[in-house]
Amino acid sequence: MEKRPFIGKEQLEAICAEHPTPFHIYDEAQIRQRARALNAAFAWNPGFCEYFAVKATPNPWIVSILAEEGCGCDCATATELTLAQAAGVTGERVMLSSNDTPDADFAQADAMGAIINLDSLDMVGCLERALGGRVPSRVCCRVNPGGTFEAANGIIGNPEDAKFGMTVPQLEEAFRRLAALGVEDFGIHAFLASNTQVDDYYPRLARTLFELAVRLHEELGVHVWLIDLSGGIGVDYRPEDRAADISAIGEGVRRAFEEVLVPAGMGDVRLAAELGRWMLAPAGGLVTRVIHHKVTYHDYLGVDACAANLMRPAIYDAYHHVSVMGKGGEPACHAYNVVGRLCENNDQFARDRMLPECGIGDLLFIHDTGAHGFSMGYNYNGSLRSAELLLREDGSVRQIRRAETQADYFATFDTDERFSALARQ
Ligand SMILES: *Cc1c(COP(=O)(O)O)cnc(C)c1O
Repeated sequence: MEKRPFIGKEQLEAICAEHPTPFHIYDEAQIRQRARALNAAFAWNPGFCEYFAVKATPNPWIVSILAEEGCGCDCATATELTLAQAAGVTGERVMLSSNDTPDADFAQADAMGAIINLDSLDMVGCLERALGGRVPSRVCCRVNPGGTFEAANGIIGNPEDAKFGMTVPQLEEAFRRLAALGVEDFGIHAFLASNTQVDDYYPRLARTLFELAVRLHEELGVHVWLIDLSGGIGVDYRPEDRAADISAIGEGVRRAFEEVLVPAGMGDVRLAAELGRWMLAPAGGLVTRVIHHKVTYHDYLGVDACAANLMRPAIYDAYHHVSVMGKGGEPACHAYNVVGRLCENNDQFARDRMLPECGIGDLLFIHDTGAHGFSMGYNYNGSLRSAELLLREDGSVRQIRRAETQADYFATFDTDERFSALARQ
């Protein structure tokens, strides 16, 4: 499908007059729409909760919009827990789905009343130690069944090569140990494929976890209260990609639930999701202006954003669609490399991309940066993180995070005595 920015050229130029490029901009209306569509698709499960993967877009303004739509937070670090709390998300609306977790993070999560999801068998003991010799009455464990994960049209994930989760026998042992420590309600979590482009990922994962839950319930006598399908639903980054049909996905999971859990007398299980990409990616764009044009062995458009603002093309060779604002109706007849300023040849947002004829001064909208965009940013080459703007439902714009300054960059150095000039930046 043709990809169009969620904002027009005139409005975007007006925003640029107040907020210099580059910046990420998020579309509040679309964020709410997506949350509502997901909640509707799973409304048949009364306990369903989407725990938004905070790492995708760690901004408390975004998190609190999602909280207004009934979503919680999936956190992996103490900092993300703090952010969730600041956005008013606490208690069982928070999930700590971390790995290689320090004891202090368990303690902070427990103090918030968060659900704790253990990534390895040794964490049973760590959790008990971190909480001073007790464990919560409800605990979730992350399973990794190994092998490959197949959908109808082939392999879509490679769990065996992923560092996450415990094997099925380890999960059983974890449940036994937790039961002995007094845990009453058990959760099962798995994340087996990323950015999936097929509607049967969640239904197949659900069926696998439901069957496992029934078996553990029967063999160990444990009460399974939560099954967490985690993240992994993809988005249509490319115009030829198909967008996920969230209601068909919800329906597929419902069928597995009716066929596996209900007959086993486990119809009270509540379901969870931890979507990041599907919730937010299409609701954000990176806005950047062309500041240089050079033709050598390729035709380069140098823009004022760089891989420090959006890392996915550099590290995954990921496709992000580029629109030239105001030229949507013109033929894409010219191949350009859209590049940033880092002294690294992988700092290219697009290579040999067919775009309408354009040059210095043109405003570009890089699509689908609302998740895993700003958040993966870094400071290489002294690059500074951009601002984040929120396009409100009434059409107004609010800056929800300012751009970094040199002072921010220098703030963590020891600037006593010798480098006091930096402290004054
Ligand atoms: C990254 C992550 C997610 C979100 O993944 P998406 O691909 O953005 O849906 C959810 N849960 C956990 C534990 C993660 O690490």
